[in-house]
Amino acid sequence: MIRWALLGLGLTASLMASETWEVVRVGRVDYVSLESFVKFYGLRAPVEIESNRPFDLASPSGSLQLAVDSREMRWKGVRYWLSHSVRQAEGMILIPRVDLVKTFDPLLRPNVEIPKRPLQGVVVDPGHGGGDEGTRAARGLSEKVANLDVAKRLVRLLDNAGIPWVMTRTKDRYVDLAERSARADDHPGYIFISIHFNEDSSRESDGWETYSLSPQYAPSTSSGGSFTGDEQEVWLGNEYDHHNFLLAQSIHRAVVLAKSNAPSDRGVKRARFKVLRLANSPSVLVEGGFMSNPREASLLRTETYRQQVADWLMAGILAYKRSQENPETVARLKLATANTNTNATIGSKPATKLEEVPAFRAKATNLTVSTTNRSTTNSSAGSPAVPLVVEPEVRKALPVTPEKKE
Ligand SMILES: [Zn+2]
Repeated sequence: MIRWALLGLGLTASLMASETWEVVRVGRVDYVSLESFVKFYGLRAPVEIESNRPFDLASPSGSLQLAVDSREMRWKGVRYWLSHSVRQAEGMILIPRVDLVKTFDPLLRPNVEIPKRPLQGVVVDPGHGGGDEGTRAARGLSEKVANLDVAKRLVRLLDNAGIPWVMTRTKDRYVDLAERSARADDHPGYIFISIHFNEDSSRESDGWETYSLSPQYAPSTSSGGSFTGDEQEVWLGNEYDHHNFLLAQSIHRAVVLAKSNAPSDRGVKRARFKVLRLANSPSVLVEGGFMSNPREASLLRTETYRQQVADWLMAGILAYKRSQENPETVARLKLATANTNTNATIGSKPATKLEEVPAFRAKATNLTVSTTNRSTTNSSAGSPAVPLVVEPEVRKALPVTPEKKE
């Protein structure tokens, strides 16, 4: 058990004080202290955290569940995967910096900092086609056929809702991945949805997973949190990191929280799939169940279930569309700061801009704990770095499924 005390937690921290981030680098990974994190967002944390049990961080809009040495996170009952594990070092709990910016901030302040992008239409991309069958794990139904069938059902729903759409293929034909992504270029303001079904060597594997593009500096979910070298790259799709993630979670939540027949929740994941890398729009790739799982394969053979999948996708698209329309920016910021300041005018102040990850990385010191004052009004403050002995390895936490080839 870690005894973890916060002075005045959730009571007295002001917005200015919450701009101070405690910065730590362990190995090649940058972290912020849990203390900075809860102060900034006005979260309530338990006084004691046991290293082998999940802990909850409460906010007025919902609850985050994290665990030391785990990349798994829950937000309001749904599963997400962090880029790196939450860590414990020298009695501190550490939150990965890249997840602070790319995962937690969009969840806790979805409409702060980043302009909304009203939905103009949808590029619907049925995966595979022609000589590229996709998975053939389900007898009598290949993935390319299931993908196209669900896509056609989805565009009928979009028609009914008056939302414009374009399909990357309407027939059983091969379409190059770059050509698919390019359809978003021709249609500014559209979102891109790639529809796939899954397979695994284990017939037991089941459930739904939703992918958004890995942000720069973030390992893909399948890497187990270790660096593979490609995380330095920036892709066209990374321009939409914030909206990619909001779109992915809107769809994922609509599916796994569905009132009936909801598939099991494998989580919102990250990957550098080519269609996501190259799309010049908010984009998402869904793996809507396992054709290698006998139960899900037999469901997928029914029209009823394929319609159900299209209905879920539509519900997620509408949730995302609403999120880009409602004028809730100020209300959200008030929620986020409700515990940190009772001043009613705080919600109308401009939101604090989180620094971009590269700038942060340049300043953090390797294998040290530095308490750096990152206040935007006084950059000269800060105490000297204190050496910290920690092993540089980022430990793997929970197993993840192998990356599926496109
Ligand atoms: Zn596929």
